[in-house]
This record gives sequence, structure tokens and C-alpha cells, in this order.
Amino acid sequence: MTNTELTFMDNVGDLLVIMPSALNKLLGYRQLDSFSNEAAGVLIGERRDSHIVVHEISEPGEGDIRRRCYVDRRGSHHQVIVNEAFVRSSGRLQYLGEWHTHPEDQPSPSAIDLGTWRRHLVAQNQMVLLIIGRKEIWAAKKVTDDVVPLFRV
Ligand SMILES: [Zn+2]
Repeated sequence: MTNTELTFMDNVGDLLVIMPSALNKLLGYRQLDSFSNEAAGVLIGERRDSHIVVHEISEPGEGDIRRRCYVDRRGSHHQVIVNEAFVRSSGRLQYLGEWHTHPEDQPSPSAIDLGTWRRHLVAQNQMVLLIIGRKEIWAAKKVTDDVVPLFRV
């Protein structure tokens, strides 16, 4: 368990902050043994000017397809959690993007990941993409059609 948030920055100084409450859940899905399957969910939080803060995540559940090197978050509960957070916070907590795990130490997006984000993650806002590896977390923002990697600060 960590009590420290994880912070990333883009090339113009805008921050992505992952709060400990969300980070601890994400780290819990790392594929540390050879039997664990990929996991995926959505990221929920707030936009503060041009900065983004992740407070909550949705976790794998019924309806999701999970394999060693494949995941498809088809469960309907992900959208339910987004809607509940939005109502509970009077609109402050919103859907921010997507996370999933990879069974590699330093993760990077697959061609399938890039294609999926390009086709299905269409938004006017910048959207957050996280891949949870065994030792590192890869973070990026989708800005219109581009995937822009972020760096740790
Ligand atoms: Zn992937």
C-alpha cells in the first residue's frame, strides 16, 4: 500500500495525478505471477484547468473477458460506476480514460491497444491511458487522434 500519489507530466507541463486510493487498486492488479490475467477498467476523476486527477477506478467484473495477454472490459458495471460517481459528486468526478495491465515489467501499448483507442476512445477532451506493468506504469494522453506519452515527475 502506498500513501503517495503518482504524478506524470506532458510536454507543456500539464499534470496527471493518480491519487493513492486509485493507485493502490491499480497496483493490486499487476500480473506478478504467471497465472494472472490481464485486467482493465475505467479511470474516474476531475479536470482542474488543464490538469487531471484520477480519484477512482472501475475494476474487473462480470462480463469482462480476461486472458493472459488480452482483456476486453465488456461488463456493464464500468459505466454504472462512472454514472454513480458523476451523480454523487454533482458532476465533479467524470470518466477520464482507460487502464489495463500487461504481463511485462516496462509496459508499452500493443498495436491492438493503439487501434482500440483510436476507434473507440473518441472525445473532445484529452483522455488518459494507463498500462499497469509489473514494475512500471505507462501513461499517456489521447489528444484528438494522437497518443502522447507522459513522463514521471
Ligand atoms: Zn494492452
